[in-house]
Amino acid sequence: MSLSEPKLFVISGPSGAGKGTLVARVRAQMPNLGLTVSATTREPRAGEMDGVNYYFLTDEEFTARVEAGDFVEWAQVHDHRYGTLASEVERNLSTGQSLILEIDVQGALAVKERFPDAVLIFIEPPSLEVLRERLIGRGSETPESLELRLHTAESEMQLRDRYDEIVTNDDLDRATDELISVLHRHERS
Ligand code: ADP
Ligand code: 5GP
Repeated sequence: MSLSEPKLFVISGPSGAGKGTLVARVRAQMPNLGLTVSATTREPRAGEMDGVNYYFLTDEEFTARVEAGDFVEWAQVHDHRYGTLASEVERNLSTGQSLILEIDVQGALAVKERFPDAVLIFIEPPSLEVLRERLIGRGSETPESLELRLHTAESEMQLRDRYDEIVTNDDLDRATDELISVLHRHERS
């Protein structure tokens, strides 16, 4: 399908809702969809690679890039800073392909102000209990960071109505299909 204009999709939702899992599955079926690599001050998790999952920056490096005006948006999420580099958005849009920003709710609302045509998609877990189980199952959190993420999830869920689309990640295959059809519908519009 040829597109009249590349679309900017913003995907957010609580940590552990399944954004990364869904985006990887969608991109396997829609290889022309770009994904920006964000910058962060948090430590890499096991298996994460610099420049692939994130650009891992020190606090000083992040501050320098904020001061240089290098970010489209950035936000403090949980206890670290995360941001979208303008160079990443430009690199992807210059190829004429649609792209996904997987960013938190504060970043999503900032992107919508700057790019009103951006399509905001909220991925929600079936319940906070399921979210807790998924975060524990992922094995990535300490007891403290688990509680922090669950606490943040409650305030993130309150902003779900500001999104253009909401996809509940219950069954993974079903949610993947729904997300793909949402993306196709907006690419055609
Ligand atoms: P996020 O990127 O939103 O933080 P992840 O994609 O890392 O979330 O998913 C969190 C955990 O939940 C992972 O261990 C993932 O394998 C699992 N998961 C994701 N989607 C589902 C689903 N629909 N059903 C069961 N487990 C899921
Ligand atoms: P994690 O540490 O689990 O990889 O990500 C934590 C949170 O940071 C997630 O909600 C994720 O969407 C958000 N995030 C990742 N990259 C960015 C970004 O570039 N900007 C903003 N605002 N949030 C981001």
